[in-house]
Amino acid sequence: MADKTIFSRIIDGEIPGTFVYQDEHCVAIRDIQPAAPVHVMVIPRKPIPSIAHLEPEDHALAGHLLMVVKKVAQQEGLAERGYRVVINVGDEGGQTVPHLHVHVMGGRQLTGHGTA
Ligand code: 5GP
Repeated sequence: MADKTIFSRIIDGEIPGTFVYQDEHCVAIRDIQPAAPVHVMVIPRKPIPSIAHLEPEDHALAGHLLMVVKKVAQQEGLAERGYRVVINVGDEGGQTVPHLHVHVMGGRQLTGHGTA
């Protein structure tokens, strides 16, 4: 499929990715350009372009993504010291991949509010 997102291609095994978590609804992979010592993205298998495209039927999935953020942060040893969770939305939000994803960053003192 020509318009398949890069994250769908990683999820489908067409291009490599480092998976740290997988379930029936979502995956978590390491960011290829980490902004922190730990930088993981939690990504729904369903290729929803962004938060702006969530539909009522995605209600449970949206909540599930946050529960997986918590799980991955614990797994990565971030839970005690703290970490940052970022979702970029659209052009002015700095979103570069049009497939909803939740950044989980930590492992150093973070400043500002972004992924850069
Ligand atoms: P956004 O800017 O859309 O919020 O975040 C997209 C993120 O995806 C960026 O942090 C970027 O480094 C990451 N990324 C882009 N292409 C790839 C890829 O092919 N593999 C992985 N693991 N991460 C990617």
